[in-house]
Amino acid sequence: MNGAALAGWIRRAAEVVTADSDRLTRLDAAIGDGDHGLNLSRGFAAAVEAVEALPDGAPPGKVLIAAGRAIVSKTGGASGPLYGTALRRAGKALGDAAEIDAALLGAALRSALEGVQELGQAAEGDKTMVDALIPAVGAYQAALGRDESLAECARAAAEGAAEGAEATVPMQARKGRASYLGARSVDHLDPGAASTVLILRALADAAAGEGS
Ligand code: ADP
Ligand code: MG
Repeated sequence: MNGAALAGWIRRAAEVVTADSDRLTRLDAAIGDGDHGLNLSRGFAAAVEAVEALPDGAPPGKVLIAAGRAIVSKTGGASGPLYGTALRRAGKALGDAAEIDAALLGAALRSALEGVQELGQAAEGDKTMVDALIPAVGAYQAALGRDESLAECARAAAEGAAEGAEATVPMQARKGRASYLGARSVDHLDPGAASTVLILRALADAAAGEGS
């Protein structure tokens, strides 16, 4: 994938989080403050603007760093700094490469997860987006180990994220606003894990559209 393809991912992610904004907000209303859909729609709209302002031919790393910065500066809530950091760290991992392959995208995804965990201090099982990201990274690496294409690895990551998100339902939240609810956070899907699934599906779709 080149920079234009990564920009395509950000545009697609903006579309899907906006299309699903009401559902994300409902999930967040149940165990948080009901702003997750709005936060992400705003943040990704800002990311699209930032990416479109880049010069033609900007490399993939620069595209993700610009998107991440815009999300950090324009998104409210805990999720803005977390997703913004994820994208910036992924962008840094890509360096100046003009074209990224499956191994490099895998390294970027790992860096994104590390950035989220450093900033948010959430571990697996805390009922956060980390519970979608960890299985996504695991599934990506497993697909890479089977020599699958970048698009197949990205699809595996999206499926891993979906399974991880589903597994947040019975968890009790230990991080973020949902943790204030204690045991009442059980039996709800974590909104950030749900949005991670959307964003990684958008990546898989962007990669498939590329045919890479
Ligand atoms: P806020 O909780 O500030 O209103 P959002 O509603 O936009 O922010 O995002 C909530 C989501 O952010 C949660 O569902 C969870 O997935 C994620 N989240 C919150 N705190 C953390 C954290 N410390 N580490 C990782 N993810 C977190
Ligand atoms: Mg919220």
